[in-house]
Order: sequence, then structure tokens, then C-alpha cells
Amino acid sequence: MIHELYKKAGELHGHYCPGLAIGVRAAFEALRILEIEKKGFPLYCIAENRACYQDGIQVVFGTTLGDGNLELRQRGKTAFNFYDRSSGKSVRLIAKSWPEGLSREELTEFILTAPLDEVFGQTPVHFEAPPDTFVRRPSRVCPRCGESCSEPYLRIMDGEIVCLDCAEKA
Ligand SMILES: [Zn+2]
Ligand SMILES: [Zn+2]
Repeated sequence: MIHELYKKAGELHGHYCPGLAIGVRAAFEALRILEIEKKGFPLYCIAENRACYQDGIQVVFGTTLGDGNLELRQRGKTAFNFYDRSSGKSVRLIAKSWPEGLSREELTEFILTAPLDEVFGQTPVHFEAPPDTFVRRPSRVCPRCGESCSEPYLRIMDGEIVCLDCAEKA
């Protein structure tokens, strides 16, 4: 099961590596811990470092950079905050220090199949997930540059509603 997911993730990622395995295993365990039955917009993930694992998350947890439900908050830690916004459940998984001296293949296998508590520690999440934004925010055209801009990024300047670019220029 997890090896199939790893194989599928590698097709997106372009290569196979321990980093990808980390994302696959973390996402796999998060689905189980949070008892998620249906993937979709209520799910959200905040990764604390940028690396190969993000593609494992995208494939297995189903949240992507494209749908805006995978976010990076750079802390330099191999840690992931997983949320199910429909149930309110969440969990953070943080990589433990793994045995040294393993080959790349052995390490990958360890990450995918060792008992969970040897691979990751579990803690409460470090961040709040933003609200489920399945409803697209309305946009309006900025009168200064003529470009359409979504509401949270509009500002009022001299009685006009303008985009953030134009507000910063003024
Ligand atoms: Zn990789
Ligand atoms: Zn503008």
C-alpha cells in the first residue's frame, strides 16, 4: 500500500529519494491519525521546510500548491502540520533522528515501513490553519492599473479602492 503510494508520488516528483518517502509516510499517517475518509478542500497542510517531501504530501494527502491548501512556513524543520478543517482535527509530525549508516535505499525503506514512533514524533500543530476558502473571493478591477485583484488585497487610498501594487506605489 505505502509502496504503491511512493511509486505514484515518484511519477510526479521525477525521481525517488528518501525526502519523497518522508512526505509520503507523513501524509499516509496523517490520513490515518485524523481518520480522514474523504480528501478535498477541508484538508490543509503546512510544511516547515521546502524539500522533496512536499510532492509526497501533494500526492498522498491531496493538498497541493495549486489548490492553495499546501503552504510553506520556513522553520528549517522536517515537520508537517496536517489539518482536517471539517472535523477540526489536526496533528503535527516531526522527523526523529534516524539510524545512521544506512544506504539511500535502506533509509527510504526505514522511512516507509519502520514503526511510526521511530520515524516521526507527534505534537499539537504549531500554526492555525486559515479558514476553508473553497468559496472564491470576489475580485474587482483596480481603477489605477486596470488589473483585476482579489478582495483581501485591495486597499482604500484617497477614497478609491485600489490594488496592493498601486497602494504601495502611492
Ligand atoms: Zn527528491
Ligand atoms: Zn492597481
